[in-house]
Amino acid sequence: MTTGTATEPNSLIRAFRPGVTRFELPIPMPDDIPFDKTFDLAPETVEEVAPGLRRILANNPGPFTFKGTLTYLVGRGEVAVIDPGPDDPRHLVAVLDAVRGETVTHILVTHTHRDHSPGAARLKAETGATVYAEGAHRPARPLHTGETARLDAGGDQAFRPDVTLADGATVRGNGFTFEAVATPGHTANHMAYAFKEAGVLLSGDHVMGWSTTIVAPPDGAMSDYMASLAKLARRPETVYFPGHGGAIREAPRFVEYLIRHRHGREASILHRLEKGPADIPTIVRAVYIGLDARLIGAAGLSVLAHLEDLVARGVVATEGPPAIAGTYRLAG
Ligand SMILES: [Zn+2]
Repeated sequence: MTTGTATEPNSLIRAFRPGVTRFELPIPMPDDIPFDKTFDLAPETVEEVAPGLRRILANNPGPFTFKGTLTYLVGRGEVAVIDPGPDDPRHLVAVLDAVRGETVTHILVTHTHRDHSPGAARLKAETGATVYAEGAHRPARPLHTGETARLDAGGDQAFRPDVTLADGATVRGNGFTFEAVATPGHTANHMAYAFKEAGVLLSGDHVMGWSTTIVAPPDGAMSDYMASLAKLARRPETVYFPGHGGAIREAPRFVEYLIRHRHGREASILHRLEKGPADIPTIVRAVYIGLDARLIGAAGLSVLAHLEDLVARGVVATEGPPAIAGTYRLAG
């Protein structure tokens, strides 16, 4: 996600009351995920993290970006750039400096949030490289009446790849091979890339080691996200390099933690609804303990993402399509 002014998936954040400090208590919930928040890389410096894999950190730290967005450089001599990053001339210069004397042949984008894809256009203009991605920015489902484009404030609406990739597509360069792994959920067009020669996965924002990812409608969809996690858990790669923060080791096990975490959150939501119908702010207060006030809006959208999934599965009911202002009850 982007942060600061460009930001939070929305202006809905203001619709939630910050500073809530007392919660009903749900099923014990988890800080059950073994997060790793140690990550020390100075902005705009290059670090080799695996054979043929370098990373460089954009200077855009924030509550949704951690220390900043990571741009990866794959290969030597002929290079692929994964996620050129935000539209920040200093980051572009740092990336171009890092590949001085080399040729950028490919630009791959994991997803179209403003901290990842906008740098592609200028990098392409400077290098002539071909831009690959799943597709243009789009919501995960049609917008409801009253939902507006401002919900997509974090979306890079201008982005267009030269080449669109389907799940399982292969992208070959001189010295590197990628398998495109469709991983919708954080956004509808999220792609992870398996870097075959190193046996690692560039996981974008789908799986990160420092935090769970934001799944916020209409950009994101919980049912897609859970299916994408299950898909990764079955893959052979054991090391992931994410869009923010350090590498994830024992990645399939970490993915299982993420799956369990969301199941726990879903159980907490259902536990609250067993007591009677509730709106989303009520559910947020019941489910999130000690939540940072800046994240209450994001938590509301995350609950909405769960509710959309639960309504689609017939477990929860609401009037009309699931909406941020709706009231929810157990179905049946
Ligand atoms: Zn990001």
